[in-house]
Amino acid sequence: MEELWFEADKEERPLIKALREYLRERVIAGATERDKSGVFPHGLVSELAELGVFGLQVPQEYGGLGLSTRTSARLIEEIGWADGSLGLTVASHNSLATGHVLLDGSKEQKERFLPKMASGERLGAWGLTEPQAGSDAAALKSRAEKVEGGWVLNGSKQFITQGSVAGVYVVNARSDEAPAGKPHLGVSAFVFPAETAGLSVGRKEDKLGLRSSDTAQIIFDDLRLGDDALLGERGKGFYTVLRVLDGGRVGIAALSVGIGRAALEFAARYAGERRQFGRPIGRFEGVGFKLAEMSAQLEAARLLYLKAAELKDAGRDYTLAAAQAKLFASEAASRAADEAIQILGGYGYVRDYPVERYWRDARLMRIGEGTSEILKLVIAKRVLETFSG
Ligand SMILES: Cc1cc2nc3c(=O)[nH]c(=O)nc-3n(C[C@H](O)[C@H](O)[C@H](O)COP(=O)(O)OP(=O)(O)OC[C@H]3O[C@@H](n4cnc5c(N)ncnc54)[C@H](O)[C@@H]3O)c2cc1C
Repeated sequence: MEELWFEADKEERPLIKALREYLRERVIAGATERDKSGVFPHGLVSELAELGVFGLQVPQEYGGLGLSTRTSARLIEEIGWADGSLGLTVASHNSLATGHVLLDGSKEQKERFLPKMASGERLGAWGLTEPQAGSDAAALKSRAEKVEGGWVLNGSKQFITQGSVAGVYVVNARSDEAPAGKPHLGVSAFVFPAETAGLSVGRKEDKLGLRSSDTAQIIFDDLRLGDDALLGERGKGFYTVLRVLDGGRVGIAALSVGIGRAALEFAARYAGERRQFGRPIGRFEGVGFKLAEMSAQLEAARLLYLKAAELKDAGRDYTLAAAQAKLFASEAASRAADEAIQILGGYGYVRDYPVERYWRDARLMRIGEGTSEILKLVIAKRVLETFSG
């Protein structure tokens, strides 16, 4: 099928095509094995780093590609199409830790951290979630105590992507008591390298999907930082957290479309070959209609994330668009992967075929960086503000 492109895609088209070529040659074939082993693919990450994808939006002066959000999201979709785990590694590194330094980093912090993050030499991990503070992230309990010349951090973070393999950590902690009824105040962010004393890695998660991406608990035990580790304004960090999450949601929406597309492509090829009752099963309306819905929903999901990305690139408010894109795309990817299993029948349920992996990988998209329920709260609030004053 001929791919249809927008005029606006003109610049990103060669980049997407080159990346897709590389992914076909080097990444797709090993994805099943990496999923089985659950081992983080350091070699592949170094190889991918050569293409610049760990500095998608980092300005060229800091060694990045300096791409728009739109182009970056298209590239994340491609990586997710080839391997969801690798897609999550790239998306989270770019949107979360790197995104936070880009938003709030001082010139010195940018010069110190961004070049090595953009080159992929140091992967970024971003710590917000805690054991008792997930969706209600402002309930975080990690403490940052101000001491002479710096800070001392104590506490832990849960489910941190790149938690055990990162070279740079950006973490959010409570530095000041919150005024009554305003738990989002008093949170500050800190950036520091992996070798900082007092940082340790707790349990590594054994996950349902995205198994070769790294997810771990991180622990701060009297972790001492200088004043130069404070990222952004003291006590106002939660405002940046929300902005970082908006950006992350565009990336997760793109990653979702990539995973869903892989499921659609595999199921469509299979439906064209598998014969029952004397004809390819794709010729039965019951199967063809599934493919039609998967295809339409994934295209719609892409348009939603492109809209959010374009609003972000234009410097406009994109909180609503990012929440809509992530909600719709993650649900579309889950449905597509589920239908792909149905189209393959029993073969969809066994590990010889990749569709059960797509289903497991897609499942996280409805949970990470804001669950579907939390996104609906964000969207409902905006809708109510708009239409009922
Ligand atoms: C693989 C993986 C990678 C992750 N990577 C990172 C990372 O890099 N950094 C990071 O900081 N975090 C990360 N997370 C954490 C992730 O963002 C949280 O898991 C997510 O925000 C949900 O929090 P929770 O798991 O504590 O669930 P909870 O917040 O306990 O939610 C449980 C259920 O209750 C629902 N719920 C909660 N509140 C409401 C409400 N007000 N209305 C309706 N329903 C509600 C939720 O939607 C959900 O269905 C990761 C998680 C996973 C699994």
